Amino acid sequence: MVHAILTIDDIASKNTRAIVDYLNDKGIQALMFGWGQRVEENYDNAIYALQHGMIVGNHSYSHPFFSKLTLEEAIGEIEKMEGILNQLYKDAGVERKYCPFRFPYGDRGGENQEALQKYFRENGFDKLKDTQIPYFWWKHYGLDQAIETMWTFDFQEYCIRPGSDFTKESVFEKMRATQLEHDAVLYEENASHILLIHAHDETEEMVPGYFPLFMDDLVKNGVIFDAPEFIRL
Ligand SMILES: [Zn+2]
Repeated sequence: MVHAILTIDDIASKNTRAIVDYLNDKGIQALMFGWGQRVEENYDNAIYALQHGMIVGNHSYSHPFFSKLTLEEAIGEIEKMEGILNQLYKDAGVERKYCPFRFPYGDRGGENQEALQKYFRENGFDKLKDTQIPYFWWKHYGLDQAIETMWTFDFQEYCIRPGSDFTKESVFEKMRATQLEHDAVLYEENASHILLIHAHDETEEMVPGYFPLFMDDLVKNGVIFDAPEFIRL
């Protein structure tokens, strides 16, 4: 049996509404991470996600590499986005219960890494419950103590771009792989995942319906989607 929590990055997009409809149809609640301009440009679709049961977390304001920022700039990025999210929840008429965060590119802040963890702890950020994650490397890299939301399997569908030889078949290949360098094996018996996929319109242009295409494979393979729960460390 494979368990998974679904996280969807870089909302909002034009495609967000169709993604939410699909998830509602399958009874899946996802944790979505939004960033400034994307949310501002597709505000109604971000509202739609909230009003249809999704959780939206903070993915910074301008999606920078956090290791290239000073601590002050980093906190500025986070807080500017917090303001947008607070307003978004208000405009959606949905109570904001949780404040999860995800670093763009999984860049944990370089020399500010520890200071940022301290900032998250002291400012009410919520950690996605990860005590079910069984992989030794999760603890080895201290991710069990990290407040921000990392992942165990990345579909890498954002690599499907014009001129790239990474295709939807490459995604399926990765999904079926029995050994992976940087991710946990998707369909391994008793796997427990935090999955990462993106809501990119650029991917939708390359592979129309990419989201249901990959998700249907998970459903068909009996993956059990668990609702995101949160813990405070
Ligand atoms: Zn992102």
